[in-house]
Amino acid sequence: MKTDPYWWEAAPRPDLAAPDLPARVDVAIVGSGYTGLIAALKLAEAGRSVAVFDSDAIGAGASSRNAGFVGRTLKYSFGDLVKSKGLPHAVATYREMQAAFQAVADTVAEYAIDCAFCAHGRLVVAETAGQFEDLKREYELRHRHLGSPFEILDLAALPREIGSPRYRGGVVLPDLASIHPGLYHQGLVKAAIARGVALYPFTRVGALSRESSGFSVVTERGPLLAGHAILATNGYTDGLLPWLQRRLIPFDAWQMATEALPAGLIDRLLPNDRTYIDSYMNIDAIRRSPDGSRILYCGKTGERSDQVTMGKRLAGELRAVFPELKDIGVSHSWTGRCAATFDLLPHLGTHQGIHYAVGYCFAGLPMGSHFGRLLAQRILRPGSVSSVFADRPFKTVPFYRGNNWFVPWMMRYYDLKEGKRHAA
Ligand SMILES: Cc1cc2nc3c(=O)[nH]c(=O)nc-3n(C[C@H](O)[C@H](O)[C@H](O)COP(=O)(O)OP(=O)(O)OC[C@H]3O[C@@H](n4cnc5c(N)ncnc54)[C@H](O)[C@@H]3O)c2cc1C
Repeated sequence: MKTDPYWWEAAPRPDLAAPDLPARVDVAIVGSGYTGLIAALKLAEAGRSVAVFDSDAIGAGASSRNAGFVGRTLKYSFGDLVKSKGLPHAVATYREMQAAFQAVADTVAEYAIDCAFCAHGRLVVAETAGQFEDLKREYELRHRHLGSPFEILDLAALPREIGSPRYRGGVVLPDLASIHPGLYHQGLVKAAIARGVALYPFTRVGALSRESSGFSVVTERGPLLAGHAILATNGYTDGLLPWLQRRLIPFDAWQMATEALPAGLIDRLLPNDRTYIDSYMNIDAIRRSPDGSRILYCGKTGERSDQVTMGKRLAGELRAVFPELKDIGVSHSWTGRCAATFDLLPHLGTHQGIHYAVGYCFAGLPMGSHFGRLLAQRILRPGSVSSVFADRPFKTVPFYRGNNWFVPWMMRYYDLKEGKRHAA
């Protein structure tokens, strides 16, 4: 069982030599995932000099480890938002989620990134009658107010979408997409280098302090001055800005790839090559690999363990969904870090002059792509950014310093509350 992401087979982390550190840049960016690189690209295209720093290899964070689901959903359903904040706010929020989804499609097209971006659609499955009713209500509401297409599948129709006896019904969202996350990131790296962005792998930024003309940036390669500073560190946010660390709840996400499976078997289990999620807070996510040769499964979010143990446990979960996979072998099992927030919403803002975009709560592929663009705009055209997620109060709780000991317990609490069953 390999413990590096399956995605790194086709998109190994780039082996880059860092250029010499300049005395000054227009913008220093901490974090080289989607958020940091897309901000860097847009700033470089506007003629700004940009340096991107990462304490690890470029893109070694969640951006090259995720499941590659490109959606437009928050942890709050559209119906929840209508109830708690009213229809206009719910519509504005979900329209912005659609803009985030579109940001991925636009980025892929603009930089001609060959990354298996494909709108095969998504199947959201319901395991209980109650979940099925909630699903129907939610997607009918979205269709009525947002025009989002959907198709309801009852028990009799389900086999044409998924070869599992576990579910009671589902909803197909025909326009959602998937991507090869590693190749998407690799395409961003190439585009950034071609536009003169300076990339500094294995260069932790240890301090950022405000000066009269910008920021003094202390890096492992030495100091420099920057006109502006961006933090794009999401689940890997460290003590560089303790204020931000106190507002983020990092958690581990786990994913595995099966060994190559017979084509006929995959066609039976996942006939239409969609992405698949269930309806629990602690979601399980299933998809084919982009070459169609294996099944990828993401689940048990928030658990603390090692990749080999988790690979075996995830395989057990996958068998519980598809009993036909009883002798399944695991070829890759890996992990990565995400960040939740206390209000379960992403945040874009500026603290002590430092711009940040974080807290994607598992939707960072579209949100990171979208917020990367917005971060660049905030610097290029201050005051021009309009986002329902920007500059909102960013909550923390007393005595919290970023220690996420409670995450596994919180996920178990949700499982109990919602009656989610796990494999033995
Ligand atoms: C297993 C898994 C599955 C997921 N599936 C999906 C999915 O299907 N769809 C979806 O939308 N989202 C998914 N996500 C979430 C998504 O991958 C992330 O939200 C997104 O990649 C965050 O991008 P980012 O650029 O903000 O941060 P990251 O890509 O995490 O990059 C942050 C970087 O900051 C660097 N850093 C931190 N501190 C410092 C410092 N002081 N100095 C220098 N560098 C620093 C880190 O080394 C890291 O590389 C998943 C995540 C995981 C782990």
